[in-house]
Parts: sequence; C-alpha cells; structure tokens
Amino acid sequence: MDKIQVKGLKVFAHHGVYPEESAQGQDFFVNVCLYTDTRPAGIADDLEQSVDYGELSMFIDRYMKEHTYKLLESVTENLAREILLRYPKAVSVKISVSKPHAPIPLPFEEVSVSIERSFHEAYIGFGSNVGDREEYIRKGLETLENESDIFLLRTSTIIETEPYGGVEMDPVLNGVVKIKTLLTPYELLAVLNRIEAEAKRDRAVHWGPRSLDLDILFYDKLILEDEYLTIPHIDMKNRTFVLEPMAEIAPGFVHPVYGKTMADMLNELKEKG
Ligand code: ATP
Ligand code: CA
Ligand code: CA
Repeated sequence: MDKIQVKGLKVFAHHGVYPEESAQGQDFFVNVCLYTDTRPAGIADDLEQSVDYGELSMFIDRYMKEHTYKLLESVTENLAREILLRYPKAVSVKISVSKPHAPIPLPFEEVSVSIERSFHEAYIGFGSNVGDREEYIRKGLETLENESDIFLLRTSTIIETEPYGGVEMDPVLNGVVKIKTLLTPYELLAVLNRIEAEAKRDRAVHWGPRSLDLDILFYDKLILEDEYLTIPHIDMKNRTFVLEPMAEIAPGFVHPVYGKTMADMLNELKEKG
C-alpha cells in the first residue's frame, strides 16, 4: 500500500507522569505514516483526492497541545484514533511519538512508543424471536450505530426463519449488518453482550427464546478460537438465516476457513436440502 509520511515533527506539549512534565511541558517528536491509495490523487494531480500532510501536521500539533496524557501510550493511541476518524482515505496509520527529554537519570537518546492501527470490517448477525422482534432489532442496531468506534456500513433485509436447534419456540427474525470498527474482537463482543443485556435477553436456554442475539460472524479475515470467541462464527455452513443475509450484502465475501464465497455456501446449503 502507498504511504504518506511525516517524520520528526516537533511538538511542544505537556504529557508525562510527573507533575513537572505536565506543568512545564517538553518537546515531543512525531513520526506518522498513513497507508492510503495515492494513485487517484497522483494521476489527477489533485490535493483534494489525497491527504494534506500540512493539515495533518497542524492537526497533530493542535491535538497534542490541547490534550494532556500521562503516558506516551495514550498519546499515540488517541492520535491514531483521531487520525483514522479524520482521514477516511487512510486504511491504516503507523505512529510513533518520542520524548528525548524524558525524566530518566541516565544518559539516553530518546524513549518512544510506536503503534499501528486500522479500521476493521466485521459482519454481525442479529436475531430476535420474542416480543416485539422488529423493535428489539431496530433498537439494537440503533445502539450499535451510536457506539463511538462502530460505523454501520450495510444492513441486510430482515428475514423470518424457523427456530434452530430443536427447541420449541416462535419463528426468528434474522439479518446481518456489516460494520467498520476500531474495536478489537473482544471489545466488540463486550459491546454486543452489553446491547443484548440491555434488551433484557434471557440466557436460560441455549438456542432458546431471546429478545436479541448478536453474534460476530466475521472480523476481517481473522481465524480465532479460544474460550471466549470463535471467529468465523460456528456452524455457519448449516445456517440459512446467516448465509442468506450474508449472500445478499456480501455475495463475494470468502469464508477464511472454507475458502468459499457466501453465495456458493448458500447454494450448497440449499442443494443439501
Ligand atoms: P450460537 O453461538 O450457536 O449461535 P447462541 O448465539 O445462542 O448460539 P449465546 O448464548 O448467545 O449462544 O453465546 C454463548 C457464548 O458464545 C457467548 O458468551 C460468547 O462468549 C460465545 N461466542 C463465541 N464466539 C462468538 C462469536 N463469534 N460471536 C458471539 N459470541 C460468541
Ligand atoms: Ca450469540
Ligand atoms: Ca446465535
């Protein structure tokens, strides 16, 4: 991927654990690298289609002056987040902030923290089969959209299916939403669990009735299995209520484990009968 970099940007600011540091301030040096496609701007010779590095530098200077953090970790984390939100053309950002005058009573060159952050694309499956099902789903998606680090990109049609897993209950409304997020998979799961809890979901029966069920179906191309999370979501190849909405909004998305598109997986499930 193409890069736009600013190196050695000097910013006088007030970050540090010690009171003298936040009171007196000191010099920080910032290296920032935005990963972005520069070709459209390059061909058109048009700044509008690129990231203005002058504006980026001024923004970093202003942000670092207007905020005070104890840790360099927090300075870099918050800067990365703000930059990604400000420059939607940036796919990811690498940033390092160094502090040549850190309070270390020994000779040293500088201390620094370097991180790389990016947006992630995830697909969330939602379902409801008690009470006002549409309302639970509407409210759940609205809450998700209002999360500061989650952006809804596309929502499928909501479909009605017979319940899954052999438990007697009412038909389920299901769908899928594609999101862009800065959250890690675990942070995302915590948000989904919180929204489920807000919908007063009863967890008494596994696969039993629920006012709102929110599952992480995919998170980029991540394959993960531990005691908290299985990604891609389990058993998808047998679930019409997952594959149908997935095939609607992302027919060409390839399952990272099976290597098959959503459209193909849906067709195979239909053929199986
Ligand atoms: P299923 O997972 O088969 O659709 P379910 O949705 O009814 O069943 P829950 O009771 O909602 O199951 O979830 C049980 C646990 O599954 C959750 O506490 C969560 O930690 C875990 N889990 C594992 N992987 C995922 C995932 N990808 N998305 C959501 N929860 C997951
Ligand atoms: Ca679930
Ligand atoms: Ca589920």
